[in-house]
Amino acid sequence: MKPDTPPLPPHLFQQAVEQADMAISITDQDANILYVNPAFCRATGYEAAEVIGRNQSILSNKTTPAKVYQALWQTIARGESWSGRLVNRRRDGGKYLADLLVTPVADAAGAITHYLGLHRDVTELHRLECEARNQKALIESAVDAAPIAMALVDADDCVVLDNHEYKKLMGDLGMVEPASVLLAALRAELGHAFGTPRAGNVAFLEREVRVDRAGWKMPRWFSCSGTWVSRVEGEADAFFDRRHPVYLLLVASETTAQRAEQEKARLAALKAVMAEEARVGGLRESLSAAVFQLEGPLNLMNSVLATISRRGCCEPAGETLVEAVNAGRAALETLRGAVPAPRRETPTSVNLNELLHDVIELSTGRLLAAGITVSWQPQPVLPAMPGCPNQLRGLFKALVDNAIEAMNTRGWRERELVIATRTVDDALEVIVEDSGPGIPAGQRLKVFEPFFSTKKGGEHPGTGLSMALQAAVDHGGGIELDPAARGGCRVCVVLPLRGIDGERA
Ligand code: FAD
Repeated sequence: MKPDTPPLPPHLFQQAVEQADMAISITDQDANILYVNPAFCRATGYEAAEVIGRNQSILSNKTTPAKVYQALWQTIARGESWSGRLVNRRRDGGKYLADLLVTPVADAAGAITHYLGLHRDVTELHRLECEARNQKALIESAVDAAPIAMALVDADDCVVLDNHEYKKLMGDLGMVEPASVLLAALRAELGHAFGTPRAGNVAFLEREVRVDRAGWKMPRWFSCSGTWVSRVEGEADAFFDRRHPVYLLLVASETTAQRAEQEKARLAALKAVMAEEARVGGLRESLSAAVFQLEGPLNLMNSVLATISRRGCCEPAGETLVEAVNAGRAALETLRGAVPAPRRETPTSVNLNELLHDVIELSTGRLLAAGITVSWQPQPVLPAMPGCPNQLRGLFKALVDNAIEAMNTRGWRERELVIATRTVDDALEVIVEDSGPGIPAGQRLKVFEPFFSTKKGGEHPGTGLSMALQAAVDHGGGIELDPAARGGCRVCVVLPLRGIDGERA
């Protein structure tokens, strides 16, 4: 049992109120002042004797709206406390903003007999609040009007603040959170979590990210920079905590206009390179096919010669055959030597969306001539992978060429080419799907063999898919024909993000 606490002496209450550093007044039921403490006199400039017997309205500056007083009186008349801000006037005429709390004082029977008023001057606090609010509004309108997308992102990649341009970007990304998409692409590209998250540290600087849009719209480019910033939390338990959480300020400024010019020039150069490569590739294909064709009869002659020499007969016919075989071998070697060697490429960072965009752009003439519509369905932001761009371009060009050839047959009505990209786990997946006649089930493996073609006397000798497969394998990936494709041909290319040398771009 706790010992009984001795009652406080009555004068202690008086002393406490007298010495309190807050303006305190006690009034009757009509707000006529009965008592004021010294802090009240300091705040208002009135002596106690000057206000005792006067109404509290003596303090009114007459600029507080009547409805505020009505609310005050309605509340305290119900026996409840009221708090709010009023414009008061001191004895010397100076105005101040008073933060007032009025509490009804009831007798033993519960009837209100008096009111207790406590108020303090909050003019300076109000000025600071206004300044902060004005600054916030100013910063917000400047940030909103800025032609760059901005977002403040927390540790879970959730956006806690953003601007108008950022919201517009959301439309382009199909209502996906742009920050998550951009940051995922940047993380994949940089291969780290943006350095040490300490306020003021730069996470990444002017990294360009390409945003592809479905429906054959021009892609957009953004130069992205990220800075770590700290934010003071408003929660009570954060009041004494000096470790303010760190956020990432993501700024993405559009560079599409500058890139568009560069793109035009790059595409023109690429066209020339591709034309030259097609010429050399054609030569390689034709010569390889000739070597392949010649190897058959030469092997036959070799086995005939072996049979003859086993029987130990047929001079001088055997000699002539030996000469013919040797001449054939020499001719074959000369032919092999004439096959242009494939160009060795140094792996670099490749954006498959860009590469596929180029392939479609370069095939536009043929696609239009064949009346084929292209449905471009890219993942808006695709992480880069290390790879050989020419080899990969050749891979997809072969698939697109095959699709065009398959659909471009007399009387064929369905002519749609779907090209889609997406990230699946640690790999990139590209789907090239045409609405042509498709590949019969029995030939789905054979088509990847060199010199195999489903079309007798077709335009190509049938090395496209084998080379495409080789390119995918060289990049640690593979190509599959989807057996579930209903009508047409659905080719699925999977390329690991770690790319050609096991390293991420
Ligand atoms: P008033 O004629 O006083 O009335 C304004 C409105 O209040 C009217 O709608 C009226 O109907 C209502 N009203 C007034 N008296 C009563 C009542 N007895 N019962 C019900 N409704 C009523 N005002 C300040 O401006 N500054 C202060 O610091 C301040 N401190 C106060 C402290 C206490 C403890 C109390 C009880 C009131 C305080 N007031 C203060 C309110 C003050 O009494 C006046 O109501 C107010 O100043 C408006 O005065 P007025 O002469 O312009 O209008």
